[in-house]
Amino acid sequence: MAKQEDVFKTIIAHAKEYGFVFQSSEIYDGLSAVYDYGQNGVELKNNIKRYWWEAMTMLHDNIVGIDSAIFMHPTIWKASGHVDAFNDPLIDNKDSKKRYRADVLIEDEIAKFEEKINKEVAKAAKRFGESFDEAMFRQTNPRVLEHQRKRDELHNRFSEAMNANDLTELKQIILDYEIADPISGTRNWTEVRQFNLMFKTEMGSTADGAMDVYLRPETAQGIFVNYLNVQKTGRMRLPFGIAQIGKAFRNEIVARQFIFRMREFEQMEMQFFVRPGEELKWFDFWRQTRLKWHKNLGLGDSKYRFHDHEKLAHYANAATDIEFEIPFGFKEVEGIHSRTNFDLSQHEKFSGKKIQYFDPELNESYVPYVIETSIGVDRMFLSVLCSCYEDQDLGNGDRRAVLHFPAPIAPVKCAVLPLVKKDGLPEKAREIQHRLRFDFTCQYDEKDSIGKRYRRQDAIGTPYCITVDHQTLEDGTVTLRERDSMDQRRLSVDELEKILSEEVSLNSLLRKLL
Ligand code: ATP
Repeated sequence: MAKQEDVFKTIIAHAKEYGFVFQSSEIYDGLSAVYDYGQNGVELKNNIKRYWWEAMTMLHDNIVGIDSAIFMHPTIWKASGHVDAFNDPLIDNKDSKKRYRADVLIEDEIAKFEEKINKEVAKAAKRFGESFDEAMFRQTNPRVLEHQRKRDELHNRFSEAMNANDLTELKQIILDYEIADPISGTRNWTEVRQFNLMFKTEMGSTADGAMDVYLRPETAQGIFVNYLNVQKTGRMRLPFGIAQIGKAFRNEIVARQFIFRMREFEQMEMQFFVRPGEELKWFDFWRQTRLKWHKNLGLGDSKYRFHDHEKLAHYANAATDIEFEIPFGFKEVEGIHSRTNFDLSQHEKFSGKKIQYFDPELNESYVPYVIETSIGVDRMFLSVLCSCYEDQDLGNGDRRAVLHFPAPIAPVKCAVLPLVKKDGLPEKAREIQHRLRFDFTCQYDEKDSIGKRYRRQDAIGTPYCITVDHQTLEDGTVTLRERDSMDQRRLSVDELEKILSEEVSLNSLLRKLL
């Protein structure tokens, strides 16, 4: 098994053991691709959401928030295109009875050609040593060129089939390339069918009066249909944005990779309304602004990259993903899209209401253009968890599992620990905890040896431990232990409050954004 897979398994096990993420309905053997957040997970998740929310609404004069309902009028999903086009092409293997996304099977096949090329390059690099010219090798080596030609041929055929929505051709590609089911190993496939990813339910009590409604597959439409309400009641002038955090639901077919692809998940979306013609300038602004927000967490600049879309949705005129490196590669964590005036125009058409902005400078009315930033809370959570986890070798056979969370988003900010459970130390420690708890999430722990207690706090990523000992009773000083360096220093309780507010407050993180 690849080492990265082991690392990922360890992280998942750690997330469960320390109360971050549990499988939903676990005592009933679980519900596939649905997860619950535990006592530490919910704190981390809330902190990530606060970091996003405050960066959007408090640091921008022209961005306000809303909280729209999950249920919406079903025509909204007609207008947005989700009823007709929010589909994945599905194929079943008749032997294993497993269902796959046809596009994913073909993409995996394309990746195989890329792997072959990379193997050739790695082999040659080893053979030629320092004198190896990789670019030249890729352009001239006959085997690489042949793999590349085959890869491009498949890629082009696949893109054309996807663009034309040609399901027969997708099946034909799977047959022609002899793609087998990874489980049964057979090529006994059904036809390819379209599968809509929206969950449907009924609203209303009587059979005749009931209407089909959907669980929203994205939060964005709740913003679009409230555009006029917010613009008018907030007397907003373009450009301005509306931000929202909320649950979204997709009946994902290939739901795997832990909380990376879930059927119920949470999104943080912001729609920024601009004057037509200015959208690409704002697209660039949000591309940079969002990357800065990510990098500001200090998880490592090299872990991020942009992936600009070559193939755009018919209504979009620019789109990029921010990808983050997790143990199974660079994966999309956020999408930034220039959506033109598509959504608002569609809602104008389907609702029959005028959804426009009167621009006093131009003295004309128009449907605003939109730049969207859309990030998954759970994928952000996974990125933070994976990049902060370390199984650290402390020498002499000693190890510790530690989560190096950026202090402002750590679930617990400090733990107050009496050195022993007697001599008035617990009372003193409680007193200190009581002083701190109004400003910081602060735990009290008196069970087990101090070493074990430090390890427990390291495992949930608590940046500071405060140890109360006999000297505390004499001179009011405590020991402050820092999680990453494990350094300890003595200071007064007053100083402690100052250090904590500087290091662990969300403000310290937000200030660096300006
Ligand atoms: P993917 O290509 O991975 O399915 P997408 O391009 O369909 O994602 P968007 O519709 O752009 O995703 O949604 C915006 C963000 O919502 C994504 O960047 C991701 O962080 C998050 N997201 C989307 N689908 C899921 C899911 N099933 N589980 C968790 N997060 C999701």
